[in-house]
Amino acid sequence: MHATSTRVPVPFFRPSIGEEEIEEVVGCLRSGWLTTGCRTQQFEDDFAVAVGAKHALAVNSCTAALHLAVEALGLRAGQAVLVPTMTFAATAEVVRYQGAVPLLVDCDPSTLNMDLQDAEQKIADLKAGHTPLDPGLNVAGVMPVHVGGLMLDMDAVKAFAARHGLWVVEDAAHALPAAFRHGPGKPWRRCGENTAAVTCFSFYANKTITTGEGGMAVTDDPSLQSRMKQMSLHGLSHDAWKRYAGTGSWDYRIVAPGYKYNLTDIASALGIHQLRKAERLRRERESLARGYRESLAALEQVELPPEPNDRLHAWHLFPLRLRLDRLTIDRNAFIDRLRAGAIGCSVHWRPLHLHPYYQETFDWKPEHLPVASAAWQRVVSLPLFPGMSAEEQQAVVAAVKDIAAQSALE
Ligand SMILES: *Cc1c(COP(=O)(O)O)cnc(C)c1O
Repeated sequence: MHATSTRVPVPFFRPSIGEEEIEEVVGCLRSGWLTTGCRTQQFEDDFAVAVGAKHALAVNSCTAALHLAVEALGLRAGQAVLVPTMTFAATAEVVRYQGAVPLLVDCDPSTLNMDLQDAEQKIADLKAGHTPLDPGLNVAGVMPVHVGGLMLDMDAVKAFAARHGLWVVEDAAHALPAAFRHGPGKPWRRCGENTAAVTCFSFYANKTITTGEGGMAVTDDPSLQSRMKQMSLHGLSHDAWKRYAGTGSWDYRIVAPGYKYNLTDIASALGIHQLRKAERLRRERESLARGYRESLAALEQVELPPEPNDRLHAWHLFPLRLRLDRLTIDRNAFIDRLRAGAIGCSVHWRPLHLHPYYQETFDWKPEHLPVASAAWQRVVSLPLFPGMSAEEQQAVVAAVKDIAAQSALE
């Protein structure tokens, strides 16, 4: 688009893979042990220490971790789970895997995180027959998502859950590392440090740390850990796991119809080294986010994502909100122009209730979740990744400013 087309192209994301990761993967390949083994064990042990959890289970995606968590908590048909409508497909689909139903919750207009007051309201609405769902459903759990890496106050979520007798499974796909506290001077609580019954992380290619594909479930509850571990490998008796260490018995027993969710040592080889740099990578993203906030602060056509001082922000995303009342173009046209200027960008997300499956199966309407219905039409995520050069960031800022100036409503 005009002036922007001459600037450097900027991808939405570029992974940060160092020589350590490459050497560890090569070491794994040369070792002859490719699937779940000692590198995965090490990744799990290191991860539990890093987030302050008692147990960690490495699996092949965050989706698998979420599924194992709700399965271990006994989720079943006839139950409903509070799920924010502002999330990725995975958070709600695992509820459907168990035959249960997601009770969608609206978001806070500033953070885009689940609005606890609306969660409270949705429970009342369900019982009163004011949602499209069967009023006889029994609400069993809540699955908060830390959108972009900005944590909810998990003590508030837990208090809410306790009042209603719900379990909590945290979708922390964006939140490594992240933390919250109750004010300046108060101690930080890391995401995964007993912040939920189970906390699930993602190592998908564009997440804050990556194993290509991968995920981790952490918990302080040994019985949840035991069930998740068993179900992650065909529901085999625990003894069978030792096969992977070469010391197990050939005579395993199938004790439940489980899944195939284990993580390979090739992936864990990446994870071990990615985890060690997680805080350094977070600081790089934090400093880039500060760069955006400073460069775009005066631009009245956009709203910037908040950065409260009681949060350690993982900055997985930088979700800009367009002020459509000050622009002659809509969000889609804004994105077309960014892309025409070779700037990668994305939208997080089209809310679940505006997807065909959830609309058609449960009859959700935009007016059931008005904040998310409006907010999603204004969101654009800008490129934000460690290793992004100053020149690249300047190109993004210049493109955003150009488009805003060309489309400003007087
Ligand atoms: C990426 C993502 C997931 C799924 O992670 P996978 O590792 O790809 O399964 C789940 N929830 C949210 C919010 C995500 O962004």
